[in-house]
Amino acid sequence: MKSWSAVYLPPALPGIIHKPLTLKDSYTGKMVPLEQNSITSYICGITPYDATHLGHAATYLTFDLIHRYIKASGKSLQFTENITDIDDPLLERAKRDNQDWKDLATYQISLFRDDMTALRVIPPNSYLGVVESMELITKKIFELVETGLCYEIEGDYYLSISKLEGALENLPCSLDQALSIFSERGGDPDLIGKEHPLDTLIWLKARPGEPAWPSPLGSGRPGWHIECVALALETLSGAVEPTSITLQGGGSDLRFPHHYMTGVQARAITNKPFASVYSHAGMIEWQGEKMSKSKGNLVFVSKLLEAGWRGEEIRFALINRNYTEDFQWKESFLQKARTDLARIAAALAREEVAQTASYVQQMVDAIANNLEITKAFAAIDNWCEATEKGEIGGNSGEMARALDLYLGITL
Ligand code: ZN
Repeated sequence: MKSWSAVYLPPALPGIIHKPLTLKDSYTGKMVPLEQNSITSYICGITPYDATHLGHAATYLTFDLIHRYIKASGKSLQFTENITDIDDPLLERAKRDNQDWKDLATYQISLFRDDMTALRVIPPNSYLGVVESMELITKKIFELVETGLCYEIEGDYYLSISKLEGALENLPCSLDQALSIFSERGGDPDLIGKEHPLDTLIWLKARPGEPAWPSPLGSGRPGWHIECVALALETLSGAVEPTSITLQGGGSDLRFPHHYMTGVQARAITNKPFASVYSHAGMIEWQGEKMSKSKGNLVFVSKLLEAGWRGEEIRFALINRNYTEDFQWKESFLQKARTDLARIAAALAREEVAQTASYVQQMVDAIANNLEITKAFAAIDNWCEATEKGEIGGNSGEMARALDLYLGITL
């Protein structure tokens, strides 16, 4: 799949020390330093029918900050993002709107690309749609079936979770809660014939009137989790670490079941843990509720751009928060972002500015510590204040480059 425009990253300032980026694992709560020189990152992408609302944008901006730091610290990054361009919600939306599902997906993917470009998000090395990757996905599904851990219900195939050692022992919540969330997010715990209610669908036999693809298991389409397993293992595995990939990321609504089950299915194939660290961005709330298509309370990046807000302003307003927590969105954040950016621009435009290196180092240290972006912004604020008070000895070009490199902000 065509990705979006590359983003130029200026070099890091000489003398700045980059500690390994440390992220808090969403399942274990442990701080995991990414000490490897080669890092692989798999970020779950959109289902293309309601792109790109601020919830999506906040998630991809979070992982963009992570990717920027990894690159700035001189490590190599291999980054894959998928597009779930065939799934029940997409088919349902297309049917509701009397539209071809392929046309709907193509339009939404193009909108998403434009939004990512406007927000200056570094594009993935591999940007893969499920439909275009069907051959490798069906190959991986067949590998999973060959492990002997799967079973069939009237032509559909499921992975038997209780047959994989330890797979039910690390649920991120109680079994009752897991069942309830599983049901809300596309699972089918009550289906007759399942060995365990948390068994996950890996292959759906062709249904009348629905698109289907050939496979060794017959005609049909893949389950949701196995798509990401296949794309991640195909494009990213092979690194020297003891897991298949370094980082799996996405919005916190993917923590269970999607990422949990991705880990289970991948381990069933490879016999090793899937990711070294799992990271999840909090949800964006608006008018007191999570921004979601089911609530109908979506704010779209494209609409804000049309209304005259700049990509930098939207970016600035969305990243200045603790990324793991849910975030109450207010329209006033955009105006505040505009004011704050104007203040930084005015400081950068002065002939003399406060010394730069120590403030940049504070910003870098804050980001390295599980992405403490509010502390990074406090360092910038302090630099502006020092400059406004008349302190000198710095270099405004250096500060501008650091803002661009680490935070993606250009002025
Ligand atoms: Zn995924």
